[in-house]
Amino acid sequence: MKKSPINTSFYDRTRETMQWSERKKDLNTRFLQTLRHAHSHSSAYREMYDDAGIDLSTIQSLEDIEKLPLLRMTDLMERQRHVFPFGGFETLDPRDLHRIYVNPGLLFQPGGEFESQDTSWAQALCGAGFKAGDRIINTFNYHLFPFARFLEQSAQHLGATVIPAGSGNTMMQVKILQMLEVNGFLGTPSFLTTLVQRAEAMGLDLRKDVFLETALVGAEMLPESLRIRLQEKLAMTVRQGYGTVFVGCIGFECHAMTGLHVPDSIWVEIVDPGTGRHVPQGSAGEIVATNFNCSYPMIRMATGDLSCLSDEACPCGRTGPLLKRIIGRMDQATKVGGIFVHPWQTDEVMERYPEVFKYQIVVTRKNHMDLMTVIVELKEDSSEALSLQRRMEREIEEMLGVRGSVRIVPRGTLPDGHRKIEDQRSWD
Ligand SMILES: [Zn+2]
Repeated sequence: MKKSPINTSFYDRTRETMQWSERKKDLNTRFLQTLRHAHSHSSAYREMYDDAGIDLSTIQSLEDIEKLPLLRMTDLMERQRHVFPFGGFETLDPRDLHRIYVNPGLLFQPGGEFESQDTSWAQALCGAGFKAGDRIINTFNYHLFPFARFLEQSAQHLGATVIPAGSGNTMMQVKILQMLEVNGFLGTPSFLTTLVQRAEAMGLDLRKDVFLETALVGAEMLPESLRIRLQEKLAMTVRQGYGTVFVGCIGFECHAMTGLHVPDSIWVEIVDPGTGRHVPQGSAGEIVATNFNCSYPMIRMATGDLSCLSDEACPCGRTGPLLKRIIGRMDQATKVGGIFVHPWQTDEVMERYPEVFKYQIVVTRKNHMDLMTVIVELKEDSSEALSLQRRMEREIEEMLGVRGSVRIVPRGTLPDGHRKIEDQRSWD
């Protein structure tokens, strides 16, 4: 019989629940150490900061961090082309490494003893409810992608056992779940869905023959409807972790699901992507993260993902900032009539209408003019459709600054997994 897992676990309860002002003081010290070390031992940071005319003595605390330039993936790629293999971001001799990790696009990453100092994903695993003695199947891809290994190492930090499965071969994976009485899952939400479908097709009873209790999913959006379906089908807890392989875990959910807790070993900012400056508390902007890894520091790495920060208290007792949900990617924004339209803005409008089942923005062009149409499916037919349509059109124009026409269509018109903004303009 499965236990119903109530998560109260922490990787380091004392630190994670320490009064925020105290913890921030310590994060400040770690940040300044990392920054000075990076500047004196990494040729990339020295060049970047010297080129930007940064006088390091003016950076006295995390409050000053926005004076430093952002670091983008394109900078990593560009510098790797000139300073091989790590672009000069490393602060140790590449000959002293244990491993070289390869990321998609042949982007190299140093690996060594220092990775075991990163506890960000271990904190995420505890937040999700994992504990010592768990038997966890890791279905993230091990092939030429370092993330699966980082997670595996983190699971070992808490004393759990990992089955390094990778993705694919679903029938064998379902058998492994059953035979080894696996109680933990690491992977994408879509792969967990695939395993559930496979198990059902194999005639298994998901609540008797599958022993899963806890999942930490990531690398993809997790729609709330999918989470509810998976949790109900498997009688398990599904929580999300968010991060990048270069920085580590940037946010994770606890049992209370108030947002994504920022791990104790990471500093997160929300910035205006154009200026790199902080946006007002609670406003949406790009997530920028800094870790305190002294051997391969990532300072102000811009993620391209959009969110906002909140300082509300969480019932779990963790202190520090919370990232509200990830609201989208910067590159999913589209310009309509010269104005940026972000999916999170249209979400904000649509969330005010409980009648809406799903929607899609379609951008077309006629007579050299951009046209925006919002295609809306309602949960059920409504006699009020016309007035609803008018209200939405008014609100879209007010909120987005762009005129759009709303078209209400029958349920099932929009395919599953559709893009939120479909750009059908052609420019020939
Ligand atoms: Zn919490």
